[in-house]
Amino acid sequence: MEKNKSEMIMELLEILKKRTNKNAVVTDIAKDKDPFKILISTIISARTKDEVTEEVSKKLFKVINSVEDILKIDDKKLEELIYPAGFYRVKAKKIKELAKILIDKYNGKVPDSMEELLKLPGVGRKTANLVLSLAFDKDGICVDTHVHRICNRWEIVDTETPEETEMVLRKKLPKKYWKDINNLLVVFGREICNVRPKCNICYDEIKEICPYYKKLKYFNEILKKYEFKKVSKKKIPNEKGTYILKIKLKDGRKIKFGKNEVFFKKGIYFYVGSAYGSTVNLKNRIERHLKDEKKYHWHIDYLLKYGKVEEIYITNKKVECLVAKDLAKMFKSIKGFGCSDCSCSSHLFYFKP
Ligand code: SF4
Repeated sequence: MEKNKSEMIMELLEILKKRTNKNAVVTDIAKDKDPFKILISTIISARTKDEVTEEVSKKLFKVINSVEDILKIDDKKLEELIYPAGFYRVKAKKIKELAKILIDKYNGKVPDSMEELLKLPGVGRKTANLVLSLAFDKDGICVDTHVHRICNRWEIVDTETPEETEMVLRKKLPKKYWKDINNLLVVFGREICNVRPKCNICYDEIKEICPYYKKLKYFNEILKKYEFKKVSKKKIPNEKGTYILKIKLKDGRKIKFGKNEVFFKKGIYFYVGSAYGSTVNLKNRIERHLKDEKKYHWHIDYLLKYGKVEEIYITNKKVECLVAKDLAKMFKSIKGFGCSDCSCSSHLFYFKP
């Protein structure tokens, strides 16, 4: 019987618990449960590498130990302490503002409710959840970019933003994992399941469950089955055959094609086409797809206006519809992209990044 999503994420997190012997920087800083330090280091960590957050936080907390200390220090010095964290000037300003509000409105203490935390400058749900769970032992799920990406890759959630992911996890994830999920997935995301996942070094127990890995493996099997080979955009041969375009759409958006308007999620799309007939070959057909300026003839041209062709696969076999039918078994078909002379539901397929 197929596992439900709650069982699946629990199993994956348990594997990571056994395999992970490191902590994310903020989790380490949180060991002494000082809400002020957790808050400040989380603000510093935004768009900043972990090593830098660690170095900067250590430097800062040698000089600063309380909200009052922040107000005593001059702006330039604070910027110097936060450098080289990303946007260090903006962050220094935010931290000063924050300290002033904490003194004026909260008696110099970090509030312990989501509602109050969200009123503070530079504090979003991610930071608020982290402070609540790590400093105050309250229920909170901190969803940062790693948690959001990996939970989508594992198909535990199907969401566009970290906030949406948090809301779904609140329903699917048993509370005993709320506090740990961020640390586990930040460490795993940084080292293995990054934006470009290093599946080759991922743990075997996780690969057995991971839907992303299963799909990738299946796609490679299809390439092998029909003898596809990868070609560069500059070396497409003058031959007849079938092709697959791997198209990357950086941001989700509504796209109009024909009479339809559909929301295309960000991610990877595989488009299957073929080039036969007296004047058509793989070279002129694919190069036409790649051109910026062209008459929009096929529906795929509308997607290509926004998406980028990352890889091209070709085979000399006449297998367009067979490949499409095989891909439809594992990937989500996008309706409206079937070819006129076949019964395939689509020749365009979505692969979550
Ligand atoms: S197999 Fe790949 S995609 Fe799946 S969790 Fe591991 S690294 Fe991430």
